[in-house]
Amino acid sequence: MIPPSASATPRTPAILIVDDAPDHLGALRAMMAQQGYQTFIATTGERAITIARRVYPDLILLDVVMPGMDGFETCRRLKEHPNTQHIPVIFMSARADTDDIVAGFDSGAADFIGKPLRMGEVVARVRAQLHVRGNSQAQKEQTDRLRTIVNSMDEGLMVIEGDGRLQYANPAAERHLGYGPNELAGVMLHELLGTAVAADYLRYFTACEEDPGHASAASACEVMVRHRDGAQRAMDFSVTPMNAIERLYVGLLHDITRHKQSETALQQAAMIDQLTQIANRRRFDTFLDQEWHRAMRSGQPLSLVVLDVDHFKLYNDTLGHAAGDACLQQVAAALQSRALRATDLAARYGGEEFVLLFADTPLAAALTLAESIRALIESLALPHPRSSTSPWLTVSVGVACITPTQYDRIDQFFVAADRMMYAAKEAGRNRVMATTAEGQLWESASSHMMM
Ligand code: GH3
Ligand code: MG
Ligand code: MG
Repeated sequence: MIPPSASATPRTPAILIVDDAPDHLGALRAMMAQQGYQTFIATTGERAITIARRVYPDLILLDVVMPGMDGFETCRRLKEHPNTQHIPVIFMSARADTDDIVAGFDSGAADFIGKPLRMGEVVARVRAQLHVRGNSQAQKEQTDRLRTIVNSMDEGLMVIEGDGRLQYANPAAERHLGYGPNELAGVMLHELLGTAVAADYLRYFTACEEDPGHASAASACEVMVRHRDGAQRAMDFSVTPMNAIERLYVGLLHDITRHKQSETALQQAAMIDQLTQIANRRRFDTFLDQEWHRAMRSGQPLSLVVLDVDHFKLYNDTLGHAAGDACLQQVAAALQSRALRATDLAARYGGEEFVLLFADTPLAAALTLAESIRALIESLALPHPRSSTSPWLTVSVGVACITPTQYDRIDQFFVAADRMMYAAKEAGRNRVMATTAEGQLWESASSHMMM
């Protein structure tokens, strides 16, 4: 929004004419009115000050020699008062020797016109003063407007010197960084960004000075900024050269902490299965990939367990989908309770199929773990009235183990475990079957364990 002072239609300039001689007043007033100016008149200095404070004219034509308060004194008083000190004053005097002119300018005059007045000259000088005043007024309004923007903007703005010293920071920058008013001035960039990142910016400054074309390379970067309280905050930071000669740079700072937090929350949510609150397939695939490559480097065995609920369609059909959901939650919790190390991960792979990855775990240990999980789920004794396998809910489990090399493939590893799970189904469900990469088979069940 444009402030009211920046109104597009310029108002009629108002001229205050001060002279103790009524003839002069009349002639000047007529002339100024002819120019289209609004006019006010005063015959004494005191009266001129009163009127000036009330109508705030754009210009004052002031006679020097007057009874009582003379023009110089009137001018000095006008210049003392904040409401009238910016009004340009043009002196009119017959005493146009050098001393008088100097005294006039000393008292704050903008111009001096000798008497007798030549009306053409008066008009020209008035017009010139109004023009200058118009320009400086516009400049002041522009400055005020910029200051308002800089003070109210939500983005932190800093003026940085070529050596990394902050010359200025707006209120938002102070707020983002936890500093009080004017406390950021003098702070060095490396105190905020750390030595390494600050050094990058200083190199950029040097490059800008050596080659002004380099300026276009400035772009927003995500940086960690040290808050006054010592904490690191994620912020977008962009730097642009402001003035090459003075070696000044403008830095814009945008606090993205909240954005980052929700991004992290979203990322985490995207990794979690909503029903069971354990890792989902996406998380598992990423984790498997990581651990696969780590195992390749370390030469340690990696074990994969695939687990599928037995007769689950029948469970849903018998007890309802909601009971089915609750049942999946209990199975998930059971798996989670057995994935205890940082290198273990239990995940819901889809539907009623779950997976577990055990890094640095040989087949025998994985088989023991898988069997304990199978037994744990059976021991939950979740009634499954129509199951032909058991009165309780059971699972079939496949296990594969590999020490991966560059010739192995993750998908084949997964297929191997999955096949073992199906083999467990075929062998009668509620059991664990395992294989190594070499194709050896193991089978375990609640009633028997064959190795
Ligand atoms: P099997 O012993 O051979 O594994 O038989 P199954 O019935 O368990 O196998 P099938 O794949 O035929 O059926 C899986 C069922 O799992 C079907 C589907 O409705 C159910 N299911 C999948 N996801 C969910 C879920 O999120 N909640 C519930 N309640 N049921 C689900
Ligand atoms: Mg099933
Ligand atoms: Mg299934």
